[in-house]
Parts: sequence; structure tokens; C-alpha cells
Amino acid sequence: MIDDGSTPETAFAGATRRRVCATPPADVITLAAWLATEASGYDDVLAAADSNGKDWLPRAAALAGVQAFSDVIGFSAADILQRAIYAGDLIETVQSHQPRLWATVRTAAFASLAGDLPARDLLHAPSTASVPGIRVLGRQAQGGLSLKDARALVAGGRALASADNFIAVLQPLAERLGGVLAASRAAVDAGYAPNSWQVGQTGQIVAPEVYVAVGISGAAQHVAGMRDSSLIIAINTDPDAPMMRLADIAWQADLFDAVPALCAALDGYCSRNTGL
Ligand SMILES: Cc1cc2nc3c(=O)[nH]c(=O)nc-3n(C[C@H](O)[C@H](O)[C@H](O)COP(=O)(O)OP(=O)(O)OC[C@H]3O[C@@H](n4cnc5c(N)ncnc54)[C@H](O)[C@@H]3O)c2cc1C
Repeated sequence: MIDDGSTPETAFAGATRRRVCATPPADVITLAAWLATEASGYDDVLAAADSNGKDWLPRAAALAGVQAFSDVIGFSAADILQRAIYAGDLIETVQSHQPRLWATVRTAAFASLAGDLPARDLLHAPSTASVPGIRVLGRQAQGGLSLKDARALVAGGRALASADNFIAVLQPLAERLGGVLAASRAAVDAGYAPNSWQVGQTGQIVAPEVYVAVGISGAAQHVAGMRDSSLIIAINTDPDAPMMRLADIAWQADLFDAVPALCAALDGYCSRNTGL
């Protein structure tokens, strides 16, 4: 059972019955209480290790009296799993002695089975419920492509220096790459970008085809969220920044010159190859 339809193949090898839970925008306490009861008939309960899954799955596990494992990236047996710890610097192998496995899994580490799931296997969580002590005042859809679905991410850091710069400099590049914007925590904390754009240990774990890190130093907590990207491009004035060492393409330059120049180069490439 998992919240977004993507699910780890090996975790379900040999499973006799599998159900996927589509979670509407319900409050986390409602979801946790519902899941703790609903899941009693199942062996394993898995959720994506994103900000939602990390919020409600441990709560539900606690209510069900089960230990939850976080950030699972692999299984070597039904009860032996690998999980990332210390911002992904170490991989811990753990054996569970519990009869049931509850875990959040990093979806980027597994192949998706979403397309294979028959509709009858969908389980719908309640969208509303009355929870003592909580009243939902409103909800706002974010819209657009999510960080996890985007094939290209253009991520900005503290060096962007303002919210206006963040959009004005990075958005044109994201549009040319068909991607969306992301951010370091320093950029989010400074108010340059919304919290939902944060990549890293306390943000989203992503693995796009292209990740452009603009003015991001590459702290371990940020790299923990994007190190599995297929192609990493770094733009930074400091050649010794950790992100420059990690990157497949490291461009030592001032971002305020480099990003517009990259956009112009992409425009030139497109017009030469399409005649537009
Ligand atoms: C418990 C914990 C959890 C955390 N979780 C996260 C997380 O999930 N995600 C996250 O991102 N961080 C996280 N952090 C914070 C992390 O440690 C770093 O502080 C943060 O990632 C730094 O963001 P930054 O790279 O934008 O800023 P900085 O580290 O300040 O780097 C700015 C970079 O921009 C470069 N630069 C400056 N000017 C220019 C220019 N004009 N052109 C080009 N380059 C320029 C500099 O050389 C530098 O490398 C966490 C920290 C803790 C303690």
C-alpha cells in the first residue's frame, strides 16, 4: 500500500495480494488513524519517503503498535532492508523481526509498477473526517508539474540573493529545458522559493534526468536529495564547492552571467536545428 501509485518491485515479489492507497488531501491525523485500522489485514505497508509519507506513515505505525523504517532504498530479503542514514552518507542494512513491515521507501531507488495496477486494487482513503482538536481552514492546489515528475530541475541556492532574481534568472532556463524550479534550504529559508521546492534531507528526494544546481554549494543535506540525478550540471563561482566536484558538468562562472548565456546558447541551438 503506497500513496502515489509507485511501488518497489522487489518488495512485492511473492505477494499474493497488493493494494494501492490513493490519498486525497486529507489531514495527516485523519489519514494515520484510518490507515492504522485499515492496514491491520495486510502484511506490509509502504509509502513514498516524501514529505507526506514521512508525516503520516510513522504516525499510523505508532497507532498500530508497529516500528516503522524510513528511507528504504533496497531489499535483500523480505525482512532485510537497506536504508540511507546520515543524509545518505551511509547505507544501513537492517533485519526486521516484526511480523509486518511498515516503511517509507525512496521511490527513485525502485522501478515503478504504477501502470500494472488494475483499478480494483485501488483503495481510497477518506478525504474528510472530524478530528478532535483540528479544523481545516482551507486548501490550495499548487498545480503544475511536481518535482518528482519533472525530467529536468533547475535548482537555485542562496546565491540568487532575492525571490525576484530566483524567478527572473532561473525560470527562463527551466522553460527551455521543459523542467521546473527547485531550491536549496538556504534559498527557501531566505524566502526566495516556497518550501515545496526544497530538495534534500528535509525536502524532496528527486532523481531527474537533468539537475542544474545554480549557486548551490552542495552541502551533504542537499546532495542527499538529488545525488541520483542522471546528469548533474553545477554553476558556481567556487571551483572547490562540493557540488562542483559531484557534477558531471561543472561550470565555474557567475550565475548572473552564466544562466542567461546558457539560455541564449540553447535558443541558438534550437533555431539552428529547427529553423525557428
Ligand atoms: C538537519 C539539517 C537538515 C538540512 N536539510 C537540508 C535540505 O533538505 N536541503 C538543503 O538544501 N539544505 C539542507 N540543510 C542546509 C544545508 O546544510 C546547507 O546550509 C544548504 O544546503 C546551503 O544552501 P546553499 O547551497 O543554497 O547555500 P550556500 O551553502 O551558502 O552556498 C551558496 C553557493 O553559491 C555560490 N555562489 C555565490 N555567489 C555566486 C554567484 N554569483 N554565481 C554562482 N555561484 C555563486 C557559492 O560559491 C556557494 O557555493 C540542512 C541542514 C541541517 C542542519
